[in-house]
Amino acid sequence: MNIVIFGAPGAGKGTQSALLVEKLNMFHISTGDLFRNAIKNKTDLGMKAKAYMDRGDLVPDEITVGMVEEVFDRMGDREFILDGFPRNAAQALALEKMLAEHGKDVGRAVFLKVPRELLMARLTGRRVCRNCGAVYHIDSKPPKHMGVCDECGKKDLYQRDDDKEAVIANRLEAYDKSTAPLVDYYRRAGKYVEVDGVGETGEVFQRLRLTVQG
Ligand code: AMP
Repeated sequence: MNIVIFGAPGAGKGTQSALLVEKLNMFHISTGDLFRNAIKNKTDLGMKAKAYMDRGDLVPDEITVGMVEEVFDRMGDREFILDGFPRNAAQALALEKMLAEHGKDVGRAVFLKVPRELLMARLTGRRVCRNCGAVYHIDSKPPKHMGVCDECGKKDLYQRDDDKEAVIANRLEAYDKSTAPLVDYYRRAGKYVEVDGVGETGEVFQRLRLTVQG
C-alpha cells in the first residue's frame, strides 16, 4: 500500500518512515532529504530551495512538485512512502494528478500526532549525520560517541540550521497554515489515519505498523 506520512515538524516522520522502509522494503521519498542533498551537492535545485529552507518557509510548489515528479518517473512499481509531501492542498492535488498518470494512488494518509509542547524539545535536540543522514537526539537517542555517527562512523553530526529556535517558530507557523488543513482533506477522501507519535521510537513504530498493515 502506498502511504503519505505527515505531521508537524518534529513529529518523527523521517524516523518512522526510515523504519517502514527498512522493514517493509518500500520506496522512500522524503522531500526534505531531497532538498538537503541538493544543497549539499550545490545543484540548481538546492540553490533555489536553500533560502526558503533557511527561513523555515515552504519551498514554492512549482519547484517541489517538479522534484517529486522526477522521482516518480524513475520509481518503478515499488510501493512508496511519501514523507514531507504533500505539505499543502495544492501539492495534494498535484500528487493526485501525478499518481493518476502513473496508475497509482495513496492508500493511507498517516498523521503522526504529537503535542506542540514536545515538538520544540525534539527539534532543538535533533542532530543529523551529514554523511549518511542518520538522526539522533542529544537526550533521547545520543550517539555512542559524542559527535560520531553510529551508522557510518563519520564524525560529522550537526544541527540543521532550521532546527534552531528562531527558525522553528516559522516552520510551525507554516505547518499550521498550510499542512494542518490536510487532515480534513484526507479525512474527506476516506484515507486519513491518526497515529499517536508520543513515546519511544519502537513503540510508535509498532502502532504505525499496525495501522498500515492492518
Ligand atoms: P523536513 O525535512 O520535512 O522537515 O523539511 C525541511 C524543509 O524543507 C521544510 O521546512 C521546507 O522548507 C522544505 N520542504 C520539505 N518538503 C517540502 C514540501 N513538500 N513543500 C515545500 N517545502 C518543503
